[in-house]
Amino acid sequence: MVATGKIPKPCRRCNGPLTTEVYCRVCKPIAAANAAERITERNARHDRIRGSARERGYSSTWDKLSKQNLAENPLCVKCLEIGLTVAATVTDHIIPIDVAPEKKFDKDNLMSLCTSCNTLKGKTTDKAIREALG
Ligand SMILES: [Zn+2]
Ligand SMILES: [Zn+2]
Repeated sequence: MVATGKIPKPCRRCNGPLTTEVYCRVCKPIAAANAAERITERNARHDRIRGSARERGYSSTWDKLSKQNLAENPLCVKCLEIGLTVAATVTDHIIPIDVAPEKKFDKDNLMSLCTSCNTLKGKTTDKAIREALG
């Protein structure tokens, strides 16, 4: 008998015949098939997750940026200008993104506003910017 340098161990799957490989002759093809199935399943799951993340990519990036902006700038900037301390509830685009879509994720184009300032800005400043630029 030729020494292989490997110590025979019981098959990992059936715990039966001693083998120098991981599985015995009977279990080897079964284990291989199971492994292939697991990889296929994992890839399918991965694709599903990736697919939905791609679909949500835009809004989740915005959600994160918006939350980060409100955490860093918790007060309404318009109210601060007139000396009022009001908690901001929305992240607004200084230049509206329908005029400048490339500035959607631009931190310099963000400001924190309270709900009423945001509504007011939509009717006044944004309208003026649209008329000037659009
Ligand atoms: Zn076996
Ligand atoms: Zn305000």
